[in-house]
Amino acid sequence: MPELPEVETSCRGLAPLLIGKPVTSVQIRKARLRWPIPTELPDTLPGYTLRAIHRRAKYLLFEFDHGHLLIHLGMSGSLRVCPVDLTPEKHDHVDIVFAGQQCLRLRDPRRFGAVLWLVEALHEHALFKHLGPEPLLDDFDANYLYSKSRQRMVSIKQLIMDNRIVVGVGNIYASEALFMAGLRPTHKARRLSKQAAEQLTLSIKQVLAEAIKLGGTTLRDFVSGEGKPGYFQQKLQVYGRGGQACYRCGTCIKQLNIGQRSTFYCPHCQA
Ligand code: ZN
Repeated sequence: MPELPEVETSCRGLAPLLIGKPVTSVQIRKARLRWPIPTELPDTLPGYTLRAIHRRAKYLLFEFDHGHLLIHLGMSGSLRVCPVDLTPEKHDHVDIVFAGQQCLRLRDPRRFGAVLWLVEALHEHALFKHLGPEPLLDDFDANYLYSKSRQRMVSIKQLIMDNRIVVGVGNIYASEALFMAGLRPTHKARRLSKQAAEQLTLSIKQVLAEAIKLGGTTLRDFVSGEGKPGYFQQKLQVYGRGGQACYRCGTCIKQLNIGQRSTFYCPHCQA
């Protein structure tokens, strides 16, 4: 599943290729994604120039003068820029065609992605209203996480994966950040100390920033015909390593389920 770093990389990779270009047409080959693609989109966008591309949580927002085109990559979506005459493949569901015969093409085999047209103020939209802060921005800090963890009965892993607390910390990055912070995933959120909150917010920022940095090397893929931004080859310390030796201390990495999500940790390094 594309996580925050992959979405951020898409945002950065697409921006220089598309910003400032007017849309000439929209082709919808399959409208049934997670929600139906608005049927008026082919009449709404042409003639308008793409002003900017933003990311909020895992949503990509393409800014036009009259609204925002929202794209979510769901479980299996990917975006790339290709010549409009490149024959679409089976799962290439949408083309936003720009001047110069280049199109932004959405591929989504599992069709859990979304393409929506938003005219209202973003912070008032139902999808955004309840979202917590961005993990890489300064308003997500130790004081914030500490205050949000008080009286919470959930585990610390569930807390940091809750979009209302902080957005974009998926299962892989939550596991890795907890390892880096030396915190056991089952640790009760309400028992989080100030010091641990400090350590954990820094670890979350570091893990995500490293993944985005690695993603930078895949940016050229946005213009190649077959290219698609893959999962970043970050060296994972614990995620997916159940039964293997911890790189730091050699102890066997444990695996368990928390809230139906596979969780990995080192019983020695994570107290
Ligand atoms: Zn260890």
